[in-house]
Amino acid sequence: MRIRYPTRFVLMLVALSALMGAEDRQLRHKRRVRAPSGPVVALVNGTLIDGTGADPVADAVVLIQSGRIAAVGPSAAVALPPNADRIDLGGGFILPGFINAHVHNALRKDHLQTWASEGVTTVRDVGAAEPYVTVFRLRDTYQSDPLCARLVAAGPLVTVPGGYPLIPNQFPAMSVLSAEDARAKISQLLDAGADFIKITLEPGADWPVLTLEQAEAIVETAHVRPVPVTVHATQTAMYRRALDAGVDDICHSASNRLSDDMIAEMVQAGVCMVPTLTAQKKAGETVSNLRRFVAAGGKVALGNDGGYLAGLEIGMPITELEAMREAGMSPMQVILAATKTAAEICRLDRDLGTLQPGKRADILVVDQNPLENLRALLNVTLVMHSGVVIFLR
Ligand SMILES: [Zn+2]
Repeated sequence: MRIRYPTRFVLMLVALSALMGAEDRQLRHKRRVRAPSGPVVALVNGTLIDGTGADPVADAVVLIQSGRIAAVGPSAAVALPPNADRIDLGGGFILPGFINAHVHNALRKDHLQTWASEGVTTVRDVGAAEPYVTVFRLRDTYQSDPLCARLVAAGPLVTVPGGYPLIPNQFPAMSVLSAEDARAKISQLLDAGADFIKITLEPGADWPVLTLEQAEAIVETAHVRPVPVTVHATQTAMYRRALDAGVDDICHSASNRLSDDMIAEMVQAGVCMVPTLTAQKKAGETVSNLRRFVAAGGKVALGNDGGYLAGLEIGMPITELEAMREAGMSPMQVILAATKTAAEICRLDRDLGTLQPGKRADILVVDQNPLENLRALLNVTLVMHSGVVIFLR
């Protein structure tokens, strides 16, 4: 890739690279740099895949100012200000920064840096082990560091005493004793700064689960704010309870067959699925449920449970992206799941998920066409986070 910078920027890069410490060098040996400091940055000579589902735009330009996209489109339609710091993308492909809507252990700075450096500029932590006061404080701290992925945090999973994931995983969770108790505890969580609420509906062999009344109380309390509610559910019967309670999206595909009626109901209600095929080892009906859900017009967001079990990718979750493709999603549908739709379920779609004027400049550039081969997403040439270049090859 050919890069043309003003001299002052090159000098700044040299100075910054000298300042970077061991922590930076350990990150998969990738070179990361700070952005030009000029008032306007222009990404030129790339093909735009803007995350709206529109056809790619060849020879596109993205203008970035004050951390946001000032203009975007074909080069013939975007005037380059004379003071713009130009970055020639060498024919690369420009996408919105990816959003992984199902991760854990996201309070680890090394995890956040790995996600960001590989183009996953936002992650949604759907259940942390740490006390929620700590979770939200660290989220706000990392927020100011563009080298860290933006963190959207639930705080704890919400369950009942003796329920999943307390059993069998011994993973900490918040237990509620009644609908009234649920209202009080969810209010506390929201007051403390929860971006959304995550409940579990996992009966396993014979674990207790939230009743419909308790789940409804949780959803009602959150929606008043208004804050969305997601749910861990892997069985059709618990999908049923989640839908009756009014959740906004469902984490994991069901391992037994979702009925056509239930799929139609989800599509109608706009309830999104975050399938996590990798974590579920594509078991049972997980893949066929996703295939039928997508064919029916269901909304899908990317999530791979990264950070939870060993082997689930931190960084670009290519295994999950390819599994979604194998389940019948087109490459464009997979990209939308990782951008526009994931932003929607994080309630960040006013700022993120597509490359349009006014949105935050979270941008991923890869050197080959991901619509031809999703593995192109592994060949990242540039990552911009809130207008700051955090990775450049
Ligand atoms: Zn999970």
